[in-house]
Amino acid sequence: MSRYEIMIGLEVHIELKTRTKMFCGCSAAFGGEPNTRICPVCAGYPGALPMVNRDAVMKGLILAKELHSRISPSSRFDRKNYFYPDNPKSYQITQYYRPLSLGGEVLVKGRKIRIHEIHLEEDAGKLFHTPDGRTLVNLNRAGVPLAEIVTEPDFRSADEVTAFLEILRDIVVYSGISDGKMQEGSLRADVNLSLYDTENQTAGTRTEMKNLNSFTEIRHAVESEAKRQARIIAEGKTVTRETRRWDEDLRDSFSMRGKEEAADYRYFPEPDLYPLRITDEMLREAEEQRRELRPEKEKRYTDVFGLSLYDAEVLTDDPETAGLFEALAFRTGDPKASASVIETEILRLKKETGIPVSASRITDEKLAEILALRKTGRITGAVMKELISVCYQKETEISEYIRINGLQTIQDDDAIRAWISEVIREQPGPVSEFLSGKEKVLMFLLGQVMKKARGRADADSVRALLLEKLGNS
Ligand SMILES: [Zn+2]
Repeated sequence: MSRYEIMIGLEVHIELKTRTKMFCGCSAAFGGEPNTRICPVCAGYPGALPMVNRDAVMKGLILAKELHSRISPSSRFDRKNYFYPDNPKSYQITQYYRPLSLGGEVLVKGRKIRIHEIHLEEDAGKLFHTPDGRTLVNLNRAGVPLAEIVTEPDFRSADEVTAFLEILRDIVVYSGISDGKMQEGSLRADVNLSLYDTENQTAGTRTEMKNLNSFTEIRHAVESEAKRQARIIAEGKTVTRETRRWDEDLRDSFSMRGKEEAADYRYFPEPDLYPLRITDEMLREAEEQRRELRPEKEKRYTDVFGLSLYDAEVLTDDPETAGLFEALAFRTGDPKASASVIETEILRLKKETGIPVSASRITDEKLAEILALRKTGRITGAVMKELISVCYQKETEISEYIRINGLQTIQDDDAIRAWISEVIREQPGPVSEFLSGKEKVLMFLLGQVMKKARGRADADSVRALLLEKLGNS
């Protein structure tokens, strides 16, 4: 392998987060009962006329700006002709001759990856193969807006490819252009790979791999395809230019079809749509719609809020978590405490419950209320955790919840002393261990008292009272 350099170019498809489809008014949301989000336009009825979705164009423009790609003042839609059962019109409306933007670059691990172009197009439907050998077609996705980013063959490793896709995902998610979910297909990459022979200085034939929908699969696919091509060359044969399908279960790729050339698609300008003219007003609007990206947020969190880079990275896990943190920091005026509660409680709940922050019931207002209760000692740390968890999962009135469940901190020393006496009676072994000098046992005894108090007693006062009692026994 050492004699070859891997050359990879990507075609990344990004499903744009618009309300409606690219050329009709159908909902572009993910899922839905099969074939309920369709109309004559996206189902390919004869005579139905497409109309360009302005919001999709705006999102394409924002993407082009973020990738430093030159926006064409006038671009055009073209028909790419091919038959497939998930493509009812027998052509896809895309941009071939005059794409939305040309050029561009992204800095990946210190190296410049050049963008060739960005164009807008529509997605195809989805086929579903039943176990009994039938194939069903669902056209809900047909016509959903896509932006396709075509890179130059500048990647040299799977590491660079995944790093680029992570950067890209952050850009589209933080810009609000796409939800960037690979598992739902809203970010998909086709990998073009060839080997450059450094001894003979010759470029090899490239193959295209489709159907890659996770970083892990991309990594495996790149490694396996590079090895396969090196093997073919070593045997003195030539690599066939073809499209290969990556099989996730077998961790291997298979020839799908000979690589079609542009001429095979008989591209021609879409006669039902005017050229797409990008006005100054649209460019201004794209500028105004631009949002703060993840690296800028991280920088602000360290510079303005004085957080560590680690905290800044964790808090910007997704835009909703970052938004919750910022709102809480402004409300409480305490960025460090806010960061701490988001990191320890909110991110834990996000993971444990599987509910993303955007779908949770927690608000910065509720969190601030809970933090204030803790700060004034009206609730204990354990109760604080419980309250946050409950508020995360369902609509909760905090004071009501505390009252009904009797969660106010117990400040009655006599009650605590009574529990301590019980524990000392029930645990003669550990008590004598403690008295003979085993100080560690104190934590156990403290835990027993807290259990009786159901977490509502202040640990410091319990500790003091416990020591006092043990000292007297
Ligand atoms: Zn439609």
